[in-house]
Amino acid sequence: MAVGGRVVISEIFCKGCELCVSACPQQVLEIATDRLTPKGFHPARLKAEGCTGCAICALVCPDAAITVYRELQPRPAPAAA
Ligand code: SF4
Ligand code: SF4
Repeated sequence: MAVGGRVVISEIFCKGCELCVSACPQQVLEIATDRLTPKGFHPARLKAEGCTGCAICALVCPDAAITVYRELQPRPAPAAA
């Protein structure tokens, strides 16, 4: 089984500082310039597939706005010999 990830970003806590966007080694996060949080910031969001669940984004977030879920993903079946 391969391991993938999914992140949930709280728009209550996110202040759009971009630290997570810069820190993500997979470059799958972005600042949502078309959204505003209740406090008036543009929040971070997942922009593409490819999150590995490494949790670096959650570690660097100064506002503890990110929860990372690691998920097992089935590998494709090997080709028949
Ligand atoms: S868990 Fe890792 S790969 Fe996924 S969004 Fe966060 S930093 Fe990027
Ligand atoms: S590091 Fe945290 S506060 Fe900053 S943009 Fe990312 S989720 Fe928002």
